[in-house]
Amino acid sequence: MSSQKLWVPPPAPLLQPMSVPDRLLLGPGPANCSPRVLSASSRQLLGHMHKEMIQIMDEIKLGIQYVFQTQNSLTLAVSGTGHCAMEAAFLNVVEQGDKVLVAVNGLWGERATDIAKRLGAEVHQLVKDPGEYFTLAEIERGLMEHAPCLFFITHGESSTGVAQPLDGLGELCHRYNCLLLVDAVASLGGSPVLMDQQGIDILYSGSQKVLSAPPGASPMSFSERAREKIYTRKTKPTSFYLDVKELAQYWGCNGSPRKYHHTAPINTFFCLREALAILVEKGLENSWKLHKENSLYLCAGLQKLGLQLFVKELDARLPTVNTVYVPEGYDWKEITGYIMKKHGIEVSGGLGPSAGKVLRIGLMGYNSTKYNVDRVLQALEDALQHCLKNKL
Ligand code: PMP
Repeated sequence: MSSQKLWVPPPAPLLQPMSVPDRLLLGPGPANCSPRVLSASSRQLLGHMHKEMIQIMDEIKLGIQYVFQTQNSLTLAVSGTGHCAMEAAFLNVVEQGDKVLVAVNGLWGERATDIAKRLGAEVHQLVKDPGEYFTLAEIERGLMEHAPCLFFITHGESSTGVAQPLDGLGELCHRYNCLLLVDAVASLGGSPVLMDQQGIDILYSGSQKVLSAPPGASPMSFSERAREKIYTRKTKPTSFYLDVKELAQYWGCNGSPRKYHHTAPINTFFCLREALAILVEKGLENSWKLHKENSLYLCAGLQKLGLQLFVKELDARLPTVNTVYVPEGYDWKEITGYIMKKHGIEVSGGLGPSAGKVLRIGLMGYNSTKYNVDRVLQALEDALQHCLKNKL
């Protein structure tokens, strides 16, 4: 036995049971997982190259092709959260000095700008006020002015609650010899996105929102145009982990035998497989309809409480993340703190340009129910009675 003395003693908190309170997560994500998804996470591990695991990955691929509405063979899930997919998207199609145009109407365009700049791209922004979306004419002006090889836009702007219309965008970008990259982390499954029909070249999402699985496995897909750019680029991407050519060999996207790339987050993939299966069983159209109905029901209830919705145009409201102005005389932190403490419900404040201005109420996947809308409206009504700053 070693006679060496340990320099670091066993940490006392780890000798106590882990504390995980039950919470209803009605912020912009993560959403709660369904019992079926949770039970998938507790299944015993498989090896990451076992044929049963490969089969599960193939099923994930089919599920992503359905929820993205694409036939792209270069379809997979990256082992990481939405940011990881975002980085992978840029990293694989952008080379040093490439021109990139980014639509900014909230935090996610700013984040995309940051990522593209780190890769040495020449980044130009198309800017609109938070709460607004981009028209095809505005985007066309940006494409004409900057002649980018990649255009980024967020479908579900979760910092502001805006749903960006996507029809016609792919065709427009292609006319200008530009690839279309769309972030659907906060919208996939809750609001229509049709990769092939809308001509989207790179699409990614996350697992912890409408899919209601744990974070850590992010669906993404590349069109033939995007694949061509990836396979004809002059330089190698600067990350091995996120190099989609490498990942494609692990995911069997090229029809060749699987090659080890990294150890997949196996149980997270089990959960993603089950979450996709739930959405496949429900049907995309039903899921979109349900999210819309529950969002409308919530918005009507918020207005009944005297609250004002942040996004003016009804059709531009994202059904998954609903935004409402913080009413005058209130501090958003007190409201969200009160709702968490008294009702065990997470509701969030704003983010980026909407910070301090709005409350964000998420109704995603497993959490998008009328029952949850009633619960959060009751909690908000209670908070409005208790949190008024100048209350006598
Ligand atoms: N894009 C959008 C639109 C998002 O809402 C989020 C998560 N809030 C992300 C990207 C980043 O995802 P993650 O937090 O899973 O890294």
